[in-house]
Amino acid sequence: RYFHVTPAAGVAMAAARWPDRQAVVDEGGALTFAALDERAAALAAGLHHRLGVEPGTTVAVMWPNDRGFAEAVAAVSRLGADLLLLNTGLAGPALRDVLRREQADVLVAAPGLPPVDFAGQRAGDLDELMSSGAPPAPVPRRPGRLVLLTSGTTGLPKGAPRRLSVAELAEPFVSMLATVPVRGGEPMLIAPPLFHGLGILWYAVALVLGCPVVLMRRFDPDAVLDALERHRAGALVAVPAMLSRLLAREPRDLPGLRVVVSGGAALRPDLATAFMDAYGDVLYNLYGSTEAGWAALATPEDLREAPDTIGRPPRGATVRIAGPDGEELPAGEMGRVLVGGGLAFGARAGELMSTGDLGHRDGRGLLFVDGRDDDMIVSGGENVFPQEVENLLARLPGVADVAVLGVPDEEYGRRLAAYVVAEEGVTLSADELKSAVKAELAGFKVPRDVVFVPSVPRNPTGKVDRAELTGR
Ligand code: ATP
Repeated sequence: RYFHVTPAAGVAMAAARWPDRQAVVDEGGALTFAALDERAAALAAGLHHRLGVEPGTTVAVMWPNDRGFAEAVAAVSRLGADLLLLNTGLAGPALRDVLRREQADVLVAAPGLPPVDFAGQRAGDLDELMSSGAPPAPVPRRPGRLVLLTSGTTGLPKGAPRRLSVAELAEPFVSMLATVPVRGGEPMLIAPPLFHGLGILWYAVALVLGCPVVLMRRFDPDAVLDALERHRAGALVAVPAMLSRLLAREPRDLPGLRVVVSGGAALRPDLATAFMDAYGDVLYNLYGSTEAGWAALATPEDLREAPDTIGRPPRGATVRIAGPDGEELPAGEMGRVLVGGGLAFGARAGELMSTGDLGHRDGRGLLFVDGRDDDMIVSGGENVFPQEVENLLARLPGVADVAVLGVPDEEYGRRLAAYVVAEEGVTLSADELKSAVKAELAGFKVPRDVVFVPSVPRNPTGKVDRAELTGR
């Protein structure tokens, strides 16, 4: 039997167990679990009686990381309606198309987000809906679905509804909590957007454990460090680009911080090591995707042994490094990364799905992602992964940030282009960077173009925004 899961019951359960504990801390102050539950109940009543939200309705929530997100999500979940989480950066025709394709009936969008041509109902003033004085909404017989959209760096965002059995849902969580020492009641700062799989996963973990969630609408490294210090946070969830910005600041003494989860994009090995040198062995590298769910996790010990590893799959999940016929490849050979079980809701029961990544396993059983299948460049019969070249360039003195891409090339089909950000006050030379690559890697891995840029644009989950970078 399958049932559909939302982070639903979490708030009511937490309110019953820890009514006076802080649930959400944002720029506006703190909300206890009891207050959050009460506000969610009032909002649910307003959404039901005023906008007709009920089981079977799809409610799109487009809200930044603050208490409004927590209230809206808890209210929709309480009603047993389907919850579609939208990227707050969506606008115009792209937003209209997503709302249409996912058949959203109601759009709950934070005030200030752009207007959209939308046939359904739009709600933005949560306080007004909460004070509608409507009687309590009926309790649904089963939870609604949670629909997450992939980030769309490889195409149009598409819906990925989760359908999980109780055991499938529980196993990876149990396995994660056995590995990652997050403690109930300890504040957790979730920096990535909650509309993305990484953010919503940890939000659900925090609810289950009764951890106060510290939220910020936009990422600012100083504000994050201040908040970690002030709230004595036990855990931080971030994407690698955020960790690199934190590391650029004077390290703080954060004795309470025992867990830092990096996810959403590849963690550069030099960043992993430097981060642990500054903040201790607290770093976990989580590998997964919107459709594959959480597929592997590297612990600080794994990262000390092999800073570029994604670790191992959680109990209940399978990762296979597959050859052309889907067969498991021996250690050291690169193949397609297939995942199944656990949270891999893009896979049918008992089957494996492709993550679109290529990777390998080492003799110890540790897993590595070499790059995305569609990023690989074949040059003279040899494979080049931009990531490998990127990791090398990132280590060089004077390089603040770098992205290496395969760009169209008339002669070779594709060629490597490195986009490099120099550290402040440093002048780098393209020839020197190329020689540094040549000194360590095969000649065909040397980028033909080196372009100096003021910054590398990334989407909210830390992936390079190719279109913006290449101006296409
Ligand atoms: P797109 O629309 O671009 O395919 P997406 O929705 O798949 O985006 P996500 O689901 O956020 O994006 O990202 C999944 C991909 O991100 C993985 O397939 C992998 O390439 C990359 N990724 C995520 N976490 C890690 C990690 N820890 N190490 C390496 N790569 C990672």
